[in-house]
Amino acid sequence: MKLFQEQEIKIYNSLSGKKETFTPITEGYVGMYVCGPTVYSNVHLGNVRTFMSFDTIFRYLKHLGYKVRYVRNITDAGHLENDADVGEDRIAKKARIEEIEPMEVVQRYTVDFHNILNTFNFLPPSIEPTATGHIIEQIELIKSIIKNGFAYEVNGSVYFDVHKFDETNNYGVLSKRKLDDLIHNTRGLEGQSDKKNPQDFALWKKAEPQHIMRWPSPWSDGFPGWHLECTAMSTKYLGDHFDIHGGGMDLKFPHHECEIAQNKAAKGQAPVNFWMHANMLIMNGKKMAKSTGNFILPTEIFTGNNPHITKSFTPSVARFFMLQAHYRSILDFTNNGLLASEKGFNRLMDAVKGIDTLQTTNSTSFNVLDWKKKCYDAMNDDFNTPILIANLFEAAKHVNQIKEGKATISAKDLELLKSTMHTFVFDVLALKDQASEIDSKSNKLSGTVELLIKLRQEARANKNFNLSDKIRDELLEMGIQLNDSKEGTSFSTN
Ligand SMILES: [Zn+2]
Repeated sequence: MKLFQEQEIKIYNSLSGKKETFTPITEGYVGMYVCGPTVYSNVHLGNVRTFMSFDTIFRYLKHLGYKVRYVRNITDAGHLENDADVGEDRIAKKARIEEIEPMEVVQRYTVDFHNILNTFNFLPPSIEPTATGHIIEQIELIKSIIKNGFAYEVNGSVYFDVHKFDETNNYGVLSKRKLDDLIHNTRGLEGQSDKKNPQDFALWKKAEPQHIMRWPSPWSDGFPGWHLECTAMSTKYLGDHFDIHGGGMDLKFPHHECEIAQNKAAKGQAPVNFWMHANMLIMNGKKMAKSTGNFILPTEIFTGNNPHITKSFTPSVARFFMLQAHYRSILDFTNNGLLASEKGFNRLMDAVKGIDTLQTTNSTSFNVLDWKKKCYDAMNDDFNTPILIANLFEAAKHVNQIKEGKATISAKDLELLKSTMHTFVFDVLALKDQASEIDSKSNKLSGTVELLIKLRQEARANKNFNLSDKIRDELLEMGIQLNDSKEGTSFSTN
């Protein structure tokens, strides 16, 4: 029996605006698509938060025994400035400014993205497709949409006919917008005169002569529209109808609304059962923006090199801090919040380590099974990590009471407490005890250097000065300096 057969998950579905019981389309399997980054700059901490929410969800679903296919794309073409249908491609613009190839921009920031996510202990997705790797699939989709009468070609570009679509479907089903209101609120934008209506969006854009990123198509040498890539890649790997589609709140409209419309127009059905949206990350109560200086790069959290924080924090402390807010709540990133999380994190890690030192007795003074159930209940309730963490602190309190002789635990319950704590702390929340990892690394280093100091002393005693000097010089090259004094030899590193 798999765990998922006894755990009922409820997920808040943005489509219905309600929590719904999650039943996968195929029993035992989950297909999940999350909109990935546009790789034209260092990954934004707000995006890290979004991807962290889905990493935690991915981990929990896997823990329950589901076979999860998690697809998270890389947008490496087609995403124009201001998420619009006109303007420069974000990647091409960066390439122009830095005088490098667009694919060098893509490579640089894809590597950065992966490094940051690895540092935060993310699991890689099952598939990470790129937009440029799926141009053919996007062209085929456009052909279907044209054939079904929901798109039209003008001067080499193809646009989705929102008005036509809305006659037989509901454009706005996800974002709860009405086409009439959209018409009312849209101002005419320069350069969009090819469109029948301003609400229409590009499926294919004819490339201007200076546009480097271009591909041949039946309509023109050009590039696909940004919304289209996610429809092409999600359905290619998860099927025309799949379980979960996630992303940041800001993608709900127009990006996800357009994905639904494209899928219905091309394949005649809605693509997704559960739409999930992670909320924003702000800093010190305000929107995070480079231009105002209210900004921090993920790496600056680890170095402490940013005026908004007073010290550095380990990736696990930062992860713990972010997971102390529910993914649908706005998270306010503050120095005080991080300091408090660090304290809590250390308390939790002390408790996890403390479990191994506990004495057992014949009986347990609290209900461990009940506590375990509360941990699962928290995650089953729309992946409520703050409630889960509150329960982990509850366990930490019991561990301390047992240590102080104020509570008792049986050997069997101790085993259950330990395995449940490990599951949630390490597997689901993906925290790492980095302080003790660093300690153990530096212990190994000093042990090794002490050994070399001893060998050097032996070499000197044997008048083998060649060898003793070699040990000293080569250590120095590695940045380890030996300091000889009357008391013996010590070392320092730089
Ligand atoms: Zn997307």
